[in-house]
Amino acid sequence: MEHLHVNEAQRVILESITQSGVETVKLEQSLGRVLAEDIRANRDLPPYDVSAMDGFAVRSTDMAQTPAVLEIIEDIKAGDLPTKTVLPGQCARIMTGAPVPAGADAVIRVEDTQAVAASRVQINKAVRFGNDVRPQGENMKDGDVVLTAGTEITPGVIGVLATVKAAQMNVHRRPRVAILSTGNELEAIDEPVDLNKIPNSNSYALMAQVQALGIEPVLLGIARDDPLELEQFLKRGLEYDVLLVSGGTSVGVHDYVRPTIEKLGVQMKFWRVAMKPGHPLAFGHTDHTLVFGLPGNPVSSMVCVEEFVAPALRKMMGNRVLFRRTVSARLAHNIKHHAGRTEFVRVQLTRDEAGYLASSTGTQSSGVLLSMALADGLLVVPADSTGLAAGAQATVQLLDGTAFQDVPGFRV
Ligand code: AMP
Ligand code: MG
Repeated sequence: MEHLHVNEAQRVILESITQSGVETVKLEQSLGRVLAEDIRANRDLPPYDVSAMDGFAVRSTDMAQTPAVLEIIEDIKAGDLPTKTVLPGQCARIMTGAPVPAGADAVIRVEDTQAVAASRVQINKAVRFGNDVRPQGENMKDGDVVLTAGTEITPGVIGVLATVKAAQMNVHRRPRVAILSTGNELEAIDEPVDLNKIPNSNSYALMAQVQALGIEPVLLGIARDDPLELEQFLKRGLEYDVLLVSGGTSVGVHDYVRPTIEKLGVQMKFWRVAMKPGHPLAFGHTDHTLVFGLPGNPVSSMVCVEEFVAPALRKMMGNRVLFRRTVSARLAHNIKHHAGRTEFVRVQLTRDEAGYLASSTGTQSSGVLLSMALADGLLVVPADSTGLAAGAQATVQLLDGTAFQDVPGFRV
């Protein structure tokens, strides 16, 4: 098998994925889920023409000459129903959200009027037909689809769901994800420090990347570089919808992951992608499990989750939008690059009048996890690039947390 380009590998992965099945959740538990059904309005909203202001419901034809003095025939509050028809020369005092009475066709706000007597008001400003009236159904019309299947449930969407009285709704199931780390050198988090070992960070970093997508993964622990032990762990992993294995996917003599998963019936689609970091990435599947063989290098495995695993999980969960938002940023320094592989440079972003400025988070060695920990985004150096110069514009994929920014004057 040859090296695939990043977008070719993404295509192979996404083509082999179908959306997860459907389950019903309560509104209170639905944040972050993806609708698996269209949602329709169950009434007109507003249910009739209502006032957008506190003021007076008037007949616009009475405004031919202003100021005009009108008789106030009733007081209509939100929640009240009008009982009278407004005739020429008359008006009704009305509150925001209250129904506009028959006969009236416009609302004039209280600020443009002046009390004359208890039951009379002077209108100082002419208003046209429909002024400050929110027409029936302006917000939504009975039976209209207001949210389509595939919509991610955000706080605003929850508000709309509550408006149409959807106390529960169908959403896509979340895939069950298992994470396995491999390597004789790995030291578990609860083991004493041994200077000859490498702390197992991947299980936790990958766990958190999966959690950030709203999925609670299962950590299978650490498998030693032993074909039999690995086989036992991988068998357990194949009981899940998605199995992430870190380490052992390369071509070293102790890299048993690929042969063992193939032995267990996983059909391998590819095992190399022309990218940096993240080169030895394997992908395959059985009838019911997707298997990602991620590089052991901590940065590489996280970048591979960003580029391949996260879009796959989002597709399974019914999301229409699979990839991270990108911004264009100006480079603060040169970036060396040899054509061939797509490179993902971990950068910090700052903003000035000219837009985003990207600077490297420091050494870009794939073993230096702090380069990822401090990153706001991944700057994409295209495979065919021969290097980028300071000041050039580049594409940066935003990472978690970049929805927030520092505002001068509010620094904490
Ligand atoms: P491998 O892909 O198995 O050749 O591993 C590449 C590098 O990543 C080696 O230096 C490993 O020690 C390191 N590594 C592998 N797995 C982990 C892990 N779970 N946590 C931290 N580092 C790891
Ligand atoms: Mg290894």
